Amino acid sequence: MTSMLTFKIRLLLAFIGFGALIGSTAFVLTYKMEEFSIKANSIDNAIEIFTERNGMLGHHVSDLGSMLLSIEASELFTRYLDDNCTDQSHINDLFLTLMGSSSRLMQIRYLDVTGLEKLRVDRQSAKSGPMLIMQENLQNKSNRYYFTEIMGLEDEVIWYSDIDLNMEHDEIERPIRPVLRIGKKVMSEDVVKGVLIINVFMEEFLDKLTASTLYDLYLIDKNGYFLSHPESSKSWSKYLESGFLVEQSFLKSGDCILNNPVCKVEDLYAADITHFYNGEGLKLIVEPRLYALQTQIDVQARPLLYVIIALLLLAFPLAYLFSRTPLRLMKVITEANIVFKQKMAEKMSEMSKLNDILEQRVKTRTEELEVTNAKLLEQATTDVLTGIANRRFFFEMGDRYLQYAHRKRQDMVLMIFDIDFFKNVNDTHGHQVGDEVLKHVVSHIVKILRKSDMIGRIGGEEFAVILPDSTLEEARQIADKIRDVVIKNPYKDASVEVMLTISVGVSQTSKDEPDIMTALSRADAALYMAKARGRDQVVVIEDGKSLDSL
Ligand code: GH3
Ligand code: MG
Ligand code: MG
Repeated sequence: MTSMLTFKIRLLLAFIGFGALIGSTAFVLTYKMEEFSIKANSIDNAIEIFTERNGMLGHHVSDLGSMLLSIEASELFTRYLDDNCTDQSHINDLFLTLMGSSSRLMQIRYLDVTGLEKLRVDRQSAKSGPMLIMQENLQNKSNRYYFTEIMGLEDEVIWYSDIDLNMEHDEIERPIRPVLRIGKKVMSEDVVKGVLIINVFMEEFLDKLTASTLYDLYLIDKNGYFLSHPESSKSWSKYLESGFLVEQSFLKSGDCILNNPVCKVEDLYAADITHFYNGEGLKLIVEPRLYALQTQIDVQARPLLYVIIALLLLAFPLAYLFSRTPLRLMKVITEANIVFKQKMAEKMSEMSKLNDILEQRVKTRTEELEVTNAKLLEQATTDVLTGIANRRFFFEMGDRYLQYAHRKRQDMVLMIFDIDFFKNVNDTHGHQVGDEVLKHVVSHIVKILRKSDMIGRIGGEEFAVILPDSTLEEARQIADKIRDVVIKNPYKDASVEVMLTISVGVSQTSKDEPDIMTALSRADAALYMAKARGRDQVVVIEDGKSLDSL
């Protein structure tokens, strides 16, 4: 169960992780492409803005030159000059009328050849009306640069001043009033009569010139001073203490802006103002406003982000759904595995039981066989009545004993004994008692023999013994002990007592004999002698002779 849960969580996470990876990659790529395209477009748009604003500046001042020429050529003004400026009422009207024609006009003046203001109409602000300046307030402007410059010009040339700040009584007027002066030398019948000058309000115009929501616009002169800067404290830097220069605002592109008529770089466009030339070398810098652009990009990218978030949210149920199939599969496999293991365990247990049964059977069968074999072996080698070796086994073992004795270059002693008058026992007490007597006699004789001795029943009531570790003399003594034990242990049961004796013949093998048969026949001869001598005695034959008899 735990592994299933982990598997499910891992699968879900993998699915969502994969979705998130694809989604975010797509978003970042699209965002970057969008950003790139907007930025690339923004420079193109900056050029368009520049072109438009360049024309705007030209348009703003071009008709003022015509106004100067019209004044100079007007009959009223010519008459005024001819009368040596005695009757001013008409010319004042003309100046006031001209001033009334446009709110951008700040001042129209006529200065005579000495630089004295002779006629002057002012306007305090674009919103106020024109105002004639009284004679006593007119000033001497002979030392002002515009007067000297105009006086030094060719007759027909229209002069444009720098766009600078208005001065009153040799001081910059506060609050500042940006102003452009347009002037012309006044000629009358080839005689220089002075100078005509029109001052134009520039503040409002410059505001209009540099207004944009997506771009920052800067107006600079050829030396890099700002006439207009989006941060107003940096505007008019030539006249103010700050002296702020274009290189300080544009660390990277400052050089490019200053030294090229057109400077188009990654993040701005700057070029000379060509529709208006006043010697100041004006340049307009158009810079995409990054935060505004970023907003534009963000606005365009936001729907995409929403789509991706929606896809990601959709990924959860989808992942859950998709994860169910492998989960089901896994469940089936796990269940099948459990069933398989159970079946296997059952089969194994069955097999183990069968194996146990089989092993038990084999064991029993082996034991039975062993018992049977033992029985068979016993049957083949043992006399059923007395439990000692039968005739066949006795001769087989006797020959082996003989081979062993030959290898050790020894003689081997044998004896045969026979129960005396046994026929009488059968006849008197019955065959069954005879059998019991046979067992009784054997049981007593076996007790006297050594473990290494070999006893066998070789006839009805005839027994033979091999004594491998005994000398002939020792054999004789053993034979005597046997005889003695039989006499001393008559057979007794509930109804009978049978006195018993045995006769024994003893002999030994000799070197060249291949089997025990010859030696046994010698022992048999000794037995015969014992019978003949009256029974219940031992006869020993050595080298074919009878040695002794009891
Ligand atoms: P002796 O040897 O002293 O000359 O006399 P005997 O009576 O023992 O003579 P013999 O050896 O001729 O008789 C052997 C008898 O033993 C003959 C037979 O009936 C009997 N007999 C042989 N085998 C068995 C047996 O397995 N059981 C019984 N009950 N009698 C046996
Ligand atoms: Mg006998
Ligand atoms: Mg006999």
